[in-house]
Amino acid sequence: MKGSARWALVFAQAQLDGQLEDAGMHAREARGVILHSGGLDSSVLLSLLRARTAEAVSLTVLYGQRHEREAQYASTLCLMLGIKHEQINASVLAECMGGSSQTDLAISVPHGFYADASMAQTVVPNRNMTLLSMAIAYCISQGMDYVAYAAHSGDHPIYPDCRPSFIGAMRNAAAFCHTKPIAVLTPFSDVTKADVVSIGTESGVPFSQTYSCYEGGLKHCGECGTCVERILAFHEAGIADPTEYKISNPLANALRLFYSAQGVTLEQEKGGDQ
Ligand SMILES: [Zn+2]
Repeated sequence: MKGSARWALVFAQAQLDGQLEDAGMHAREARGVILHSGGLDSSVLLSLLRARTAEAVSLTVLYGQRHEREAQYASTLCLMLGIKHEQINASVLAECMGGSSQTDLAISVPHGFYADASMAQTVVPNRNMTLLSMAIAYCISQGMDYVAYAAHSGDHPIYPDCRPSFIGAMRNAAAFCHTKPIAVLTPFSDVTKADVVSIGTESGVPFSQTYSCYEGGLKHCGECGTCVERILAFHEAGIADPTEYKISNPLANALRLFYSAQGVTLEQEKGGDQ
């Protein structure tokens, strides 16, 4: 979905309301928990749900990921916005989530465009199902109504657990795993990351208090898949990117990788010498 920032927000709100209504709930009365990594998408989602529902709690799970800088950003953002933040230390999970650059330090973080084949090594095995199960358990224990996570349409090519088929299966399981149904909310599943940036802008999310980089440095590296995706999302949304990157001219680098992934050189794209 493309269009104005305002329409992106209205669309996400409508998706959210519809998903709650499908579960027999009303947004203004619903209370729940958001899987909040501290990245851009989940921070915007948290802001949306805080504004739209009766109560939105941030839940950050430490699953033995490569670094905890993102989680620190999650904590700081919640402090700034006055949102309840829960952090669960489940780092033992990394023992059964190996084979990914995000849980195994022996595997280097690939640089390149988000949809490159090399990005498959950033996939953490069954992460969303595991984390959603934990969030659902927390939700039930608190007498809450919903869990939410920030899958968006750009995730579909490389992350199976962000696709509609997975979301539908998880939604069905959450409706029957307890005596009371729990709603699984994914209001961004039909919008792009650029739209998420637009929604965050409309919602007043302080983007400088979100962190995306797979490498975990003080500054974003600007070259890993998620940095490149972040850079391009701000560019496509037409929003100034406040992120500090280690490399100079990160946008030119990201655009070069984007075109290269599609077999197009910048020279061809510009119609230059061939
Ligand atoms: Zn990076």
